[in-house]
Amino acid sequence: MEIHTPHNPEIEELERLGDEIALLSAHIEVATARLLDLIRDFDARGGWGNGFLSCAHWLSWRVGMDLGAARERVRVARALPNLPRIAQALSRGELSYTKARALTRVATPETEERLLIFGRAGTAVHVERLVRAWRRVDRNAENREEAERHKSRSLYVYQDEDGMVVIRGRLTPEVGAVVRRALEAAGDRMYAKARVNDPEGDPPTRGQQQADALGMIAEVVHVDAPVLADPNQPGPSVLEDGDHVSAETSRRLACDASRVVMRHTANGHVVEIGARTRTIPPALRRALHHRDRGCRFPGCGVRFAQAHHIRHWAQGGPTTLSNLALLCRRHHRSVHEDGFQVERLADGELQFRRPNGRVLPNAPALPAVHDSEEVLRAQNAGVHLDADTLRPGWSGERVDSGYAIAVMHPLAIRPSQTDGQ
Ligand SMILES: [Zn+2]
Ligand SMILES: [Zn+2]
Repeated sequence: MEIHTPHNPEIEELERLGDEIALLSAHIEVATARLLDLIRDFDARGGWGNGFLSCAHWLSWRVGMDLGAARERVRVARALPNLPRIAQALSRGELSYTKARALTRVATPETEERLLIFGRAGTAVHVERLVRAWRRVDRNAENREEAERHKSRSLYVYQDEDGMVVIRGRLTPEVGAVVRRALEAAGDRMYAKARVNDPEGDPPTRGQQQADALGMIAEVVHVDAPVLADPNQPGPSVLEDGDHVSAETSRRLACDASRVVMRHTANGHVVEIGARTRTIPPALRRALHHRDRGCRFPGCGVRFAQAHHIRHWAQGGPTTLSNLALLCRRHHRSVHEDGFQVERLADGELQFRRPNGRVLPNAPALPAVHDSEEVLRAQNAGVHLDADTLRPGWSGERVDSGYAIAVMHPLAIRPSQTDGQ
């Protein structure tokens, strides 16, 4: 039994404050629904594609959100079009973003309605717990087989008695598909060329073709020495089989200097195995990784990164800490082949520029906000919101997520099935 003190001004004041919090929260949820619509549009139209790894990386960079939260925003934004009921409840301020985020991890068009009823009734904690249990059922039912397959992956490379190298393995379907496509593409080209050069010869067997294709995929890059120093030199940069790569690409491949690059004269004689003499000493590489920690491109930070010579060593740039910067594979390509520029300023900071010359800041400033609450209320004018809009239907009773799963999940074993009716 509760005892209320009538007309206690302190309690009434606190209740008003609580209502205000609830109302503004509902406004923020409605605004979040609108934000997710904008993110979905931006993502679908590739607005982040000018230098960023993903829409989440762009979001994290542009508005200062942590990367995990940004990934979740993008994931939820993409999920909502297939879950119209959850999307609508969010846009009306009846379901919090936190609950929508949890429900969209498991909801399908078939289960959406049931989950939404639970989502409206329960608290965020109940919903989290339900979703965790739901995922366990999903995983058990659907992923056991995949996990078994994944566990069996392997690759062995060993030398046989006659000196030939034997490769044997089991790859996951995704990796296998990539390998097969690469082998097919390389094999087709080599086979076509062999027919042109020797139209009467016996065509190679499929096995022979694939062995040659694998060798081609693994080829080292051959590049003319003058081209490395000056990309405008006319000399070719060629892969072993004569396929050209651009001078910029060969400069990138030589940039980290951990790769063997053969330099040869115009008539094809190898004059130097360039990279061996340019290897970054282990101590310097450690210092570089310690300083940069990952890709330095604004908004990236990927850990697996290569050492980029800000001034290329082939142009006399020294292999020193101040002339090096870590870049991930993708952003290394951005600065060599896509026209992005990087320089080290007098104060030691790195500055990146887009191909059009505009500076790409490390962390852009957020726009100035005036009367944010008024703006929010005006934008949400079409939606009826009050202090109770977000209130869960839960009145304090015990919530058993195991029972909830049993009656709601399509793959759950129902009590009636185990009871023998
Ligand atoms: Zn580089
Ligand atoms: Zn990067």
